[in-house]
Amino acid sequence: MKIAQHGDMKRILSAMAVLGAAGLTSAARADTAADALKKPLPTVFDPAAIDQSVDPCVDFYQYACGAWLKATPIPPDQQIWWRISELDEHTRAVLAAILEEAAAGKGTKTENRRKIGDYYASCLDEATIDAKGMKPFTPELDRIEALNDKKELAEVIARQHLLGAKPMFLFSSAQDYTDATMIIAQADQDGFALPDRDYYLTHEFKSERADYRAHLGLMLGLLGDDTKKAKAEAEAVMRVETALAKAAMGLVERREPKNVHQKMTLAEFIKLTPAFDWTAYLVGVGAPVFMSLDVADPDFFKGLEVSLNSLPLTDWKAYLRWTLIHGLVPSAPKAFVDEDFAFFDKRLGGQAAIKARWKRCVDATDEQLGEALGEAYVEREFSPEAKQRVRAMTHQIEKAMEADIKTLDWMSEKTKTRALEKLASVVYKIGHPDKWRDYSKLEIVRGDALGNMERASGFELRRQLAKIGKPVDRREWTMTPPTNDAYYDPQLNDVNLPAGVLQPPNFDMKADDAANYGNLVALIGHELTHGFDDEGRHYDALGNLQDWWTEEDAKAFEARAADLVGQYGAFVAVKDPSDPAKDVHVDGKLTLGENTADNGGIRLSYEAFLRTPGAKAGKDSLGYTPAQRFFLSYAQGWCVNRTDEFAKEAAKTDPHSPGKYRVNGVVANMSAFREAFACKVGAPIAPARVNRVW
Ligand SMILES: [Zn+2]
Repeated sequence: MKIAQHGDMKRILSAMAVLGAAGLTSAARADTAADALKKPLPTVFDPAAIDQSVDPCVDFYQYACGAWLKATPIPPDQQIWWRISELDEHTRAVLAAILEEAAAGKGTKTENRRKIGDYYASCLDEATIDAKGMKPFTPELDRIEALNDKKELAEVIARQHLLGAKPMFLFSSAQDYTDATMIIAQADQDGFALPDRDYYLTHEFKSERADYRAHLGLMLGLLGDDTKKAKAEAEAVMRVETALAKAAMGLVERREPKNVHQKMTLAEFIKLTPAFDWTAYLVGVGAPVFMSLDVADPDFFKGLEVSLNSLPLTDWKAYLRWTLIHGLVPSAPKAFVDEDFAFFDKRLGGQAAIKARWKRCVDATDEQLGEALGEAYVEREFSPEAKQRVRAMTHQIEKAMEADIKTLDWMSEKTKTRALEKLASVVYKIGHPDKWRDYSKLEIVRGDALGNMERASGFELRRQLAKIGKPVDRREWTMTPPTNDAYYDPQLNDVNLPAGVLQPPNFDMKADDAANYGNLVALIGHELTHGFDDEGRHYDALGNLQDWWTEEDAKAFEARAADLVGQYGAFVAVKDPSDPAKDVHVDGKLTLGENTADNGGIRLSYEAFLRTPGAKAGKDSLGYTPAQRFFLSYAQGWCVNRTDEFAKEAAKTDPHSPGKYRVNGVVANMSAFREAFACKVGAPIAPARVNRVW
């Protein structure tokens, strides 16, 4: 599994519109792709978003975003709504248009276009899915029913993994952390459906647990079990998942790379969980022969052994019924989909209404056939000029970091040499993969939504497993081209900027330097800084997990990082209106890498900005200086409204700080900001003591 370190949580995917007569109901048409396409995209910098009644030196986020926050309710089908979410909706609509055309057999006629069109059309066809009912699930349910011995679990787990369900653990492939040129097998914790292990274990999530139990009962009831049986099965599922959660490692611990990489021989690995028939499992998923693997978390597999021995077969059977339907729910009849929404999106996320089917089907096609759809998207939306401009910006950011490293007063020459070597080795991938994925072995059949989903999942797992023992393909991407996000991969030592992020309001060929550097270039700087944050710094220029720091420099880094942990840990993520003692704070350790990247990214971007012609321009018509426009554009990239439920879940699971602190936490550490807005030292957002890692 890659450690993708997203620049942000702007998850997007893509979208569609009305598929002829078999299309949408009139109610759903209110939210069509055609409507989304008609809406202009927001500008990179929008003066109308500013709340002039706020003092920027007191709360810069509120100043930069206040008017927008007030005027922009969260759409009912969302849990979180950024200023940049308009781009997500726009891109989804573009993808919908592509898929609609492909589904109708129009436009470019390739096998890949047929596949994305058929995948999409099958997904949209709820009537056929409902008419088939439980029938397509029956063979798998029968297989679970026929289990007589816990030794036989392995075969069913392997089947479910190939179908796209996620029971018990994760098995895949990964770049070898001891030899960055090779791919090896990898095993990791998995198998529980709530967002984090703490949901099963701590008092804070007691009411979520109670509602989850009810959800499990309802889903198992929909599978045909009577209320009493479904309730008993729900308890069994809770026993299994709680045991897996207890054995699992927490998210903060997982930030330390050496905690999640243990290379061992297959024989050693099997000894962790002898009660599980690993031979049957590996044959079942079709893994190639291998001698050693990367076990992220050996304790999890030891814990699994305990659960396998202590919990009865009936518990595991109930659990497998649940993991099957939960994993495949997007292609299940409507009653399942609605109940899944009611718990995971509405109850846990505070989302008022389910997304229109077309939106879910665009997202599903992006997820399963992302590079076939992405190739069509790139043809339509991505320009060579944009690529060239962004390429130049990455060079400027790299130069700014080089200058930064050379002038650091806390780092020895020895470590600096290694840091510069790593910096020079970073690869910037812009827009899309140079080589598109080959989907020729994936069968997509019009009218078979569930089968398509299962085959696409199996295709992907087999593709991952086929890499075991082979050299790394450094051209690969883990985000699809239309994605409105970016990532740094510490093992490939590359920064990836999908075509979908190189659009307004992140970036605009027509916008001024202040706007583009405040936004997209700061994001590029953010991703680059990930190579040197609390996780990334442990990897060398090639992507090997190898300590290249002198002991003293590592200590100096950790002291500086600890300052950021303290600064962000004081921020309130979820306010309790009745009792401040019950406020949920930002987890300074969980968010350390992202906060480091935010602080480093804008600093690098600002240095690069100072060298542009735009930095020397005069005030604009509203009286803002170039530096003020730079910081305002940065802040407006993080304007966001969130449901309370989403905020609570994010505080536990999201390594990114809330938008407000991605702005205020960062500018508070910058003298350039206080100069730009003439903030007095000691003002709330201009403290006397500032924190700086990079
Ligand atoms: Zn990031």
